[in-house]
Amino acid sequence: MSHKSDIEIAQAKTLTHIKNIANGLGIDEDRIEMYGKYKAKLPLDLIDEDKIAQNNLVLVTALTPTPAGEGKTTVSIGLTEGLNKIGKQATVVLREPSLGPVFGIKGGAAGGGYSQVVPMEDINLHFTGDFNAIEKANNLLSALIDNNIQSKVNNLNIDPRTILWKRVIDMNDRALRDITIGLGGTANGVPRQDGFNITPASEVMAILCMATNFENLKQRLGDIFIGFTYDNKPVFARDLKAENAMAILLKDAIKPNLVQTLEENPAIIHGGPFANIAQGTNTILATKMGLSLSNYVVTEAGFGADLGAEKFLNIKSAYAGLNPKCVVLVATIRALRHHGGAKSEEYNTPSLERVKVGFKNLEKHIENIRKFNIEPVVAINSFVSDSKEEVDYIISTCAALGVHAVLSEGWAKGGEGTKELAAAVVDVVENKATQFKPLYDWKSPVKDKIATIAKEIYGADDVIYDKKAALNLRRIDRLGFNDFAICMAKTQKSFSDDEKLIGRPEGFVVTVREIEIAAGAQFIIPILGKMMRMPGLPTVPASENMHIDNDGVISGLS
Ligand code: ADP
Ligand code: MG
Repeated sequence: MSHKSDIEIAQAKTLTHIKNIANGLGIDEDRIEMYGKYKAKLPLDLIDEDKIAQNNLVLVTALTPTPAGEGKTTVSIGLTEGLNKIGKQATVVLREPSLGPVFGIKGGAAGGGYSQVVPMEDINLHFTGDFNAIEKANNLLSALIDNNIQSKVNNLNIDPRTILWKRVIDMNDRALRDITIGLGGTANGVPRQDGFNITPASEVMAILCMATNFENLKQRLGDIFIGFTYDNKPVFARDLKAENAMAILLKDAIKPNLVQTLEENPAIIHGGPFANIAQGTNTILATKMGLSLSNYVVTEAGFGADLGAEKFLNIKSAYAGLNPKCVVLVATIRALRHHGGAKSEEYNTPSLERVKVGFKNLEKHIENIRKFNIEPVVAINSFVSDSKEEVDYIISTCAALGVHAVLSEGWAKGGEGTKELAAAVVDVVENKATQFKPLYDWKSPVKDKIATIAKEIYGADDVIYDKKAALNLRRIDRLGFNDFAICMAKTQKSFSDDEKLIGRPEGFVVTVREIEIAAGAQFIIPILGKMMRMPGLPTVPASENMHIDNDGVISGLS
């Protein structure tokens, strides 16, 4: 059992040159664009639709998580190591972590223990600059909007009070949530209220992750809906002729990034929208790249399966024509104790009674995955505080439901600890996979689509629309956006919109407060409860415990 921190384990690893990882995927080194020795960008012409159709996509998701995270990224990486160990050619395809939370509470998102992607410092920080490019493209549009309001020539007559487009920065900085810009007189713009979101919440991020090629990216950037003119006409980014300039800034960011796991298996990391307010999965292009280059792709969708997996299946897979063949549901004993009523200080105290009660949460997620015609495998992400009787209970209760539950020890042992999980996944892929089916048709009425998700996935009895949401529905209809996908914005802490309702809540209704439009991403975003698009830092930020020595060696990053 390891007592080393994630960064110590990662730094102890001697990395292989990225050209060797590319070679292992059958790519000649002069086809890749190297960013130093351990990172490279992959050209989009390596994407091959025939291979995508033949190869196997595995989605890793989780039960409703505790704030610590239940280990989806860790299990995704561990499972990839395990698949390679049992003779399958597998690549892990992940989101790029957001830099802001690294300095807050959450820390990085490059896996943990002996299941990590490396170089972890780079992946967690600036990496290959994609987030910076997204931020710049987003903020270029902001600058163009304010310039147009200022300008007497080509003025579009934009009503500043209707502008929905915000600036972004990849930092947890609550002071930027609501700001006033353009102060200081006529030379300095027209004053208006504005605000910053964190970069993973940018529509440009959502667009990059939905784009199927460069032309599609440009089209989507042009389709971004900004607000209205004084005479109530919609204004789009294309009205500002912004799409080409924005796309120029994204010319490299659109290419997936190649790195390696601790066991020198391929990892593709690309795009990083949050899962509670956006679609929560890496780019379509990265998933397709992985499937073009390897027989198995293991990928992750954020938060619990009610958020990340629902959107991965109904939005991403439906749009891109992907066919996930197995879903791995990550469960931890501590989260099951939580759903059984344990307080956070009791998360590490064994309690079969609480686990039995908490199992209802996992059971609902299992039922939900089956609604998509996909067989789940439960991965019990093994923690030192787990008791054998709790683990055995999960395995036997899942077995009674016909679900294979396996202890996953990738965090402690790498691929050696996930061979059984890998075998269970291969069994589903080879023997039980059929064609997955989305839960709704994008062409159905908006309210029907929302009701399907709320009732089928969350278990709600009904959906209520606040006055503002009802007005928003009318606007969506007027603008002709009814056929967009539904990208739910909901708390990750509960199936419902009330974070206090743990376990498997029943007899509740969800309330749609308002409905946003991301026309470039082709999303209708119902907002359930209060959603935050710019996090803050905690009282004692993680940054205080970080250190870098004179040789550039970092410590305290987790
Ligand atoms: P998710 O992707 O679900 O948010 P992560 O894989 O990022 O979760 O894991 C969250 C945190 O928990 C990370 O810091 C990781 O190192 C840690 N972690 C994951 N699995 C284990 C485990 N089995 N034992 C101890 N810590 C773990
Ligand atoms: Mg994760």
